[in-house]
Amino acid sequence: MKTAVHDRPQTSSRHRLARQVCAFTALLAVCVLCCTLASQRAQAQAASSTGQLRIYSIDVEGGQSTLLVAPSGESLLVDTGWPGNNGRDAERILAAMRDAGIKRIDHVLITHFHDDHVGGVPELVAHVEVGEFLDHGENREDAADTRNNYETYVKAIAGHQRRIVHPGDTIAIDGLSVVVLTADGEHIGAVPGIKPVPNSYCASEHVWPDDPTENARSVGILVTFGKFKFLDLGDLTGKKEVALVCPNNPIGTIDLYLVTHHGMDWSNSRAIVDAVHPRVAIMNNGAHKAGKPAAWQIVHDSPGLIDLWQLHTAEDADAAHNSPEWLIANPKGDGDGHALKVVAALDGSFSVTNTRTEMTKQYSRK
Ligand SMILES: [Zn+2]
Repeated sequence: MKTAVHDRPQTSSRHRLARQVCAFTALLAVCVLCCTLASQRAQAQAASSTGQLRIYSIDVEGGQSTLLVAPSGESLLVDTGWPGNNGRDAERILAAMRDAGIKRIDHVLITHFHDDHVGGVPELVAHVEVGEFLDHGENREDAADTRNNYETYVKAIAGHQRRIVHPGDTIAIDGLSVVVLTADGEHIGAVPGIKPVPNSYCASEHVWPDDPTENARSVGILVTFGKFKFLDLGDLTGKKEVALVCPNNPIGTIDLYLVTHHGMDWSNSRAIVDAVHPRVAIMNNGAHKAGKPAAWQIVHDSPGLIDLWQLHTAEDADAAHNSPEWLIANPKGDGDGHALKVVAALDGSFSVTNTRTEMTKQYSRK
């Protein structure tokens, strides 16, 4: 009896304990589920309210290919690198797309018809779905190679939407303002929302020669994301740069400058570089392409510049005209194909990551 009496409470206690354990486990599961859902919701809210713009300066060995991905996932690719090399440049664009988590490119802007910019189009369209192509209109350069580049481009984009852009036009991307500053040798007088100001750097600027090439026809854009501003002028040359910002500067100041023309010294006049006052510059030079000491020095010395990043060591320049190795994506003898990745926030703060070292530097809001 004693045993039975003793047993029953024991049994009852075990059942109670088991029920309590079950209840606790169920409660824990519900809590974990709630916490997970809350965390996912918070992450989604954070992504939509503080979503970031990503910009990849892709290494196309001295050409241009710059991928911008808005927080919405809508994308703009500025130029496509070189032709040939077994589709190397399309591969590198695809690698940046994978990093950004996108499967198509909504807008491809061709700045001009030199092969280091437009040459990669046939390989790109063979591998990537493109929404529309934008360019400055027909080729204006009287050279067999450039005529051929243009013909190849027109054939490659057959069946795609094509839009010809003029200064003042915009490229509609959810969450971004993209304004065309220059196209086909013409330039904008004023950007909506920016008051042109007299440019004090014009007085000491020298006279630049006429440039009959496609470079002078480059489509240049100003990208604004909240308080963050990015300037990409393709290969625009000195005379057109000065025409754009003298006597009045319609661009104002910027955060990130894609060093014009890969750091060639027939671009990057002081009148424009000093006036736009970049905080950070990225030079898309090749190991033996552009990255000229005179242009490097102008960008390096421009007022307010914090860092000058490079896609490659400029191997034909000396150490005094190259940035320290941690700012270089592809130093001499250390690999190839590494991009520089920029992540910008609406408050104007941003970071640059060297994808070779995975080192990231933060730049605070102004
Ligand atoms: Zn170029």
